[in-house]
Amino acid sequence: MERISAPRGTQDILPPDSNLWTQLEETIRHNGERFVYGEIRTPIFEHSELFARGVGQDTDIVSKEMYTLIDRGGRSLTLRPEGTACVARAFLQQNLANLRGLPQKLFYIGPMFRYERPQAGRYRQHHQFGFEVFGDPQPEMDAEIIAIAISIFRALGIRQFEVDLNSIGCRECRPVFLAALKKELAPHLMELCTDCQRRYQQNPIRMLDCKKETCQQMLDQAPHPVDFLCLQCQTHFIRMQKCLSALGFSFRLSPRLVRGLDYYTRTVFEIVSPELGAQNALCGGGRYDDLIEILGGPPTPGVGFAGGMERAMLILQENQAPEPLRLDVYLVPLGEEAYSQAMLLAMRLREAGIRTELSYDRRGLSAQLKVANRKHARFALLLGEQELKEGSLLLRNMESGEQRTISKSEVLQSISSVLAV
Ligand code: AMP
Repeated sequence: MERISAPRGTQDILPPDSNLWTQLEETIRHNGERFVYGEIRTPIFEHSELFARGVGQDTDIVSKEMYTLIDRGGRSLTLRPEGTACVARAFLQQNLANLRGLPQKLFYIGPMFRYERPQAGRYRQHHQFGFEVFGDPQPEMDAEIIAIAISIFRALGIRQFEVDLNSIGCRECRPVFLAALKKELAPHLMELCTDCQRRYQQNPIRMLDCKKETCQQMLDQAPHPVDFLCLQCQTHFIRMQKCLSALGFSFRLSPRLVRGLDYYTRTVFEIVSPELGAQNALCGGGRYDDLIEILGGPPTPGVGFAGGMERAMLILQENQAPEPLRLDVYLVPLGEEAYSQAMLLAMRLREAGIRTELSYDRRGLSAQLKVANRKHARFALLLGEQELKEGSLLLRNMESGEQRTISKSEVLQSISSVLAV
């Protein structure tokens, strides 16, 4: 029969790599604790309309990349392609502003789904971690969000990264910029790629991050959002840059950075690493002061970021070997009588925190010791007929080959003391 493989763009995470994943998740959670953000877990699927409204109908994510299905009740549901809209939906639905007060500071970790062309660092199921704050309009909060991302990357030992920063204004000043951009580009429309020609009509700001060389050249010369910021947006941008400098973070102003989601206002940023290939963004985020209103809530400012866990893993895997599974005791019953006692003993050892594997293999002693060796067990614990009669066990140090008899009643103590050495 033909074998079934996992869908394209998905990955199996195997031991010992899964230990590195756990380490990555722990680092994120530690930073959540230190910055005092609470973990939120939202469903993996949502009503499709959440993303159409929250992320934007004309974005690549919504128009080309969503995994959408109609369920048996005829509802259109979508596997979440990103986390912010989901967290914002939960913030509103759970009435967090009224029940718990503002600002609300939340973080999440989990899988996201996008129908993209798979390549190194880009998958159809990938994992993101994200931090979001609702209800704080201050530029210091934008800087804090960037500081969280940097703290996580530093704690992971990722040293090489750069912060790209821009401001795309607000609903007051952005229309002025967009009008200027469209006016400037109108005579050159036919020289732009077909995607940009479409964006020109539907979502002109997205032209700025077109990856095509000819468009890039033209858009470098075109007006940029920072040149059109209103006074409040200018002040916000300057104050947040001051904070970043005070924190000792260097950053690059990237006047064409706009990001692929519609909900951003004012600050947008990306942290990129030269240690990654073409897909070099470790994380991206910014301020989204209009999102809660777009989702039907009261005006509530917001700011946050999302980081790609596979990308962080690519660097982690380069820098450190994952810890293999460790085995303290390989317990070998010899003879049928010994199994039930051995099972009980294995339970007690595990409950005492000793990493114990019990062999159900009926082969002879030397074959079993070979297995213990292959598994890098520190000790083999043998329970044969003789030991069963005497109420004892044979403890063998797998490195030195030394063996000694220990009494059953003291087994926990004896093993704990040798393991502590
Ligand atoms: P975005 O919401 O597109 O800014 O994504 C946030 C972060 O998730 C990016 O900076 C990447 O690190 C990561 N990311 C986005 N899409 C993918 C993908 N298809 N595969 C792996 N990582 C991704």
